[in-house]
Amino acid sequence: MENNVKCDKCGNSVPASKIKIDLKHKEYVCPDCWAGIAPKPQPKPQAPVVDNRATKQCTFCMYKYKFDYDRNYPPKCPYCNH
Ligand SMILES: [Zn+2]
Ligand SMILES: [Zn+2]
Repeated sequence: MENNVKCDKCGNSVPASKIKIDLKHKEYVCPDCWAGIAPKPQPKPQAPVVDNRATKQCTFCMYKYKFDYDRNYPPKCPYCNH
């Protein structure tokens, strides 16, 4: 028979093996409440969004350049003028 420990936050009785100890506030915290107070893992830095629409590759010299599809500019590859 496992000892139950009362959560200091919500009052639920949780098996001692499940209870977390909030060292900062010296409180017993059940897993449910712990989920709300535990430090969140840092979100992974997002890879910079590459807007492929704005990048065009010259089929002749394979040079990649910014291309404005609204203005159709530049009309030619700035590298080889093809
Ligand atoms: Zn709780
Ligand atoms: Zn080119």
